[in-house]
Amino acid sequence: MTPHLPTIRLLPPTVIAQIAAGEVIDRPATIVKELLENALDAGANQITIRLTNGGLTKLVITDNGHGMAADQLALAVQRHATSKISTVTDLARLHSYGFRGEALASIATVARLTLRSRPHPADSAEPSTNTGQELVVHHGQTITRQPVGMPPGTQVWVEELFARVPARRKFLASANVERQAILQTVTQFALAVPEVGWTVTDGSQLCLAVPPQQTLLERVAQLLGSSFATQLWPVAAEFPDWRYTGLLGTPQVARRSRATQLIVVNRRPISDPAIAAVVRTAYASGLELKSQPSFLLFIDVAPELIDVNVHPRKESVSWQQRTTMLNELRQSLITKITVQSPGGTTNDQLLTATVPELATATTTVTDTQQKPPADQTDQPPWVLADSQPLPLAPQFVHTLPQLHRDLKAAAPSWQHALATRERTILQVHLTYLITETSSGILVVDQHAAHERVLYQRFLNILNDQVAVRQSVQLDPPPLLTFPPALANLLPEELPLLNQLGYEIEAYGQQRFLVRQVPAILQDQAIQDVLEAVLQDLADGVHLAGIEELAHRTLAYLACRSAVKAGDPLTEAQAETLLTQLQATPYAFSCPHGRPTLQTFTWAQVGKWFQRK
Ligand code: ADP
Ligand code: MG
Repeated sequence: MTPHLPTIRLLPPTVIAQIAAGEVIDRPATIVKELLENALDAGANQITIRLTNGGLTKLVITDNGHGMAADQLALAVQRHATSKISTVTDLARLHSYGFRGEALASIATVARLTLRSRPHPADSAEPSTNTGQELVVHHGQTITRQPVGMPPGTQVWVEELFARVPARRKFLASANVERQAILQTVTQFALAVPEVGWTVTDGSQLCLAVPPQQTLLERVAQLLGSSFATQLWPVAAEFPDWRYTGLLGTPQVARRSRATQLIVVNRRPISDPAIAAVVRTAYASGLELKSQPSFLLFIDVAPELIDVNVHPRKESVSWQQRTTMLNELRQSLITKITVQSPGGTTNDQLLTATVPELATATTTVTDTQQKPPADQTDQPPWVLADSQPLPLAPQFVHTLPQLHRDLKAAAPSWQHALATRERTILQVHLTYLITETSSGILVVDQHAAHERVLYQRFLNILNDQVAVRQSVQLDPPPLLTFPPALANLLPEELPLLNQLGYEIEAYGQQRFLVRQVPAILQDQAIQDVLEAVLQDLADGVHLAGIEELAHRTLAYLACRSAVKAGDPLTEAQAETLLTQLQATPYAFSCPHGRPTLQTFTWAQVGKWFQRK
């Protein structure tokens, strides 16, 4: 044997077990996840999690599920021991959260595990007594057992986590961080399973408590806030192989992070960046570029079409028809988010009018007066989409009809408000337009609204022009000088700018020759437009493609061309603006993602004055 070559040895079984356990169990939050899945699989409708020190010192999870017979406890803590599947085919038809039979065994290997269980009287062959069985496993070694007085259900104690695996213990975070992770996990499950009551305490502190049998909307209101719950659009669709029900947050509740995004597949909260990205795409310019939508998306698919056995902690699933599924989701969400009011049919005159059309609004007003009032036309589309029967997943039959009714009342009703508004419009503070709708009061930010209208119009024009590569030669080509930081970014974007119809050439330090611009931009201050786009890049807004480049350019253009706060509007101009807004996709927000309007229902107004 040479001293330089390592010797290969078979690891002792305890070490093997500890390594394997680390795949499943790495911190209190993953233990909580495994144990609450077990409780759900046992049919519990009340799950209580008691922590000491963020679960680092102790965590106890109690459920009122069907429990285990006394002779089953020792089996439950063995590796690959499960009551949930017995064949590989079962794996493909999985309806349970657990299936590997590893969680309890892993916890027992790396901690001191106390398992107590008493079968539910209804499920037990034995005459009912008040006792269950207690089993204690010390770090995968000694086992003791004894009868114990307890209510039906199961209790699992986990203490001394990683006490004998210092390498792992070292990686545990602070109590606060662990508690945070546990609360995040429990919140996700509590949203995914609103029928179950959940409680989390740490020491004497109550961290989370929701009662059983809540509707999804009640659960959302309690966990994410009642004002959040009124900022959700219900959406649902059904496809040959799968269906979804979603609550999409309005731009008002968009965030900089993905913290308020929940994806649930067959009641299992998962993380799936591709699905999240598709939802984000569907919002398109409805959100600011850096913003992430808030949403809850419940996907329901035949278990044999997905594989949950691809992640050691079951945090993701793989799909057989993933591309199809993502496309179906994208298409369907886009139509739901961009709905145009049927009352606001596109009017050529409005679309092709140049920017200062508000100044000469009289003709368009006459035009709209000839149309039937909007409230006599069809229902606004959000309400339409919303009033179709939801394709219900069996597990949602109890909560979703209620959700549907609640959301119909609470969902943001901007489309409805725009479609049913009165003709009298009041401009206040030279900034806002106020009008009455069939269900309350509508307040519009005139600048944001006009920005959206112009942006959408510019986009249509640009799309046509890019399609035929309609550009304008500049003769002589202006020589533009940019600040060094911006000039530095420009060369990289040249190919993209070229696709949009620009032809720009580097011309020495900080200088660029602009030979050609997209036709729509020919009358604009070219330097300003380019600088605005480059500034966004400098601010860290990543341009993923020509669409985003176009978006930045047009958003800038729209902002510059739109009426400002402080500009007086005649009633006719205000009327034109709202009519156009109604016919515009994404009417609810300006191209920077700020809201264009707010609605107040009469019920809300009544509350201000304490009317019943
Ligand atoms: P899995 O969940 O993959 O089956 P676990 O190690 O998590 O594996 O649990 C092993 C078995 O112990 C389960 O299959 C189940 O029969 C039983 N069990 C675990 N927790 C509970 C519980 N809270 N209530 C009833 N039975 C449980
Ligand atoms: Mg399990």
